[in-house]
Amino acid sequence: MIPLSKPDITEREIERVTAVLRSDHLSCGPVIREFETKLATVAGTRYAVAVSSGTTALHLLMLALGIGPGDEVITTPYSFISSANCILYVGAKPVFCDIVPGGFNIDPQAIAAKITSKTKAILVVHVFGFPAAMDEILKIASEHGIPVIEDACEAIGARIDGKPVGGLGVAGTFAFYPNKQITTGEGGVITTNDPYIAELTRSLANQGRSHDRQWLLHERMGYNYRLNELSAALGCAQLERLEAILAARSRVAGWYQEALRDEPLLTLPNPLESPNTQTSWFVYVVRFHSHRLREMIAEELQNQGVECRPYFPAIHLQPFYRSFGYAEGDFPETEKAADTGLALPFFTRMTQSMINTVAAILKKFLHAKGPQQD
Ligand SMILES: *Cc1c(COP(=O)(O)O)cnc(C)c1O
Repeated sequence: MIPLSKPDITEREIERVTAVLRSDHLSCGPVIREFETKLATVAGTRYAVAVSSGTTALHLLMLALGIGPGDEVITTPYSFISSANCILYVGAKPVFCDIVPGGFNIDPQAIAAKITSKTKAILVVHVFGFPAAMDEILKIASEHGIPVIEDACEAIGARIDGKPVGGLGVAGTFAFYPNKQITTGEGGVITTNDPYIAELTRSLANQGRSHDRQWLLHERMGYNYRLNELSAALGCAQLERLEAILAARSRVAGWYQEALRDEPLLTLPNPLESPNTQTSWFVYVVRFHSHRLREMIAEELQNQGVECRPYFPAIHLQPFYRSFGYAEGDFPETEKAADTGLALPFFTRMTQSMINTVAAILKKFLHAKGPQQD
């Protein structure tokens, strides 16, 4: 059985978490500060605010930017659901833009057409760790005076022109669920150069307390979106190995590219990557010639003990988004990607022999069944 994803935990992680357990200091302590300092370095920002998840990080950014009922936020329908849900949490409206044909990220040219007087932010997602077209997006945004938020939850360590994602807009987020490049079990962070956003999100995550006042003084309505010390310790140990983890993942992706190249019914990820961008490999998603072929192959892989998953389903076609009036055909490129994309097993310690196993099943199936389905 080859799993879809798997965290990479060493003795170092176990040691650091154990040290917290022995310290009696399980929350609001020094390890969270250490984790935040390390994360600010990774994003190249002045501030990092650790929180309980990537989703809560996004929710806090909506609040910190004062987004609420009647406002619109432009974003992509091809993402994990929380990048759109955070807009609904504050009563605002997600305004979707389709993705670039054949790619995974939001189409900058579609953004300009969707800007109205109600647009309060553009929420860009660096899907699967591939940097979105930030230069173009930042240019459009600044022409209209609209802030850009980066959902970099799938892209820790990715770069554009040498500059890390998560530090390119007014604020960014990373997430640390166990399938991400690095994990804290559950966890997330807000990265920003703006002291106002940093302080406000820190207060909102901590029941509306202000950092320099009494513990039971609540200046505003807040939440408990804090990270804990155990998770932060796990995160510190993971971050110490970030470069090695990203390099290993890039090697695994390279083995897949090599093993699966020249398959006519299969499109490999990443051909749109430009020379000035650096990917942080999150998942390995291939596209098949048709929806039917994707479904048949997914079943075959599962039958042979290889975990895989259609990636991503379109957000606007999720049951509760349909109730807002969205339907098939609204965002054709997103729907094409959603209908034909399949995430194959992908994790830091994946071996070349595992890749060869997956590739052999795929190739055998494509050669036997592929031509019939045309
Ligand atoms: C993982 C992820 C998040 C946040 O997920 P959590 O599980 O809440 O940490 C947000 N956006 C995207 C694109 C993600 O992949």
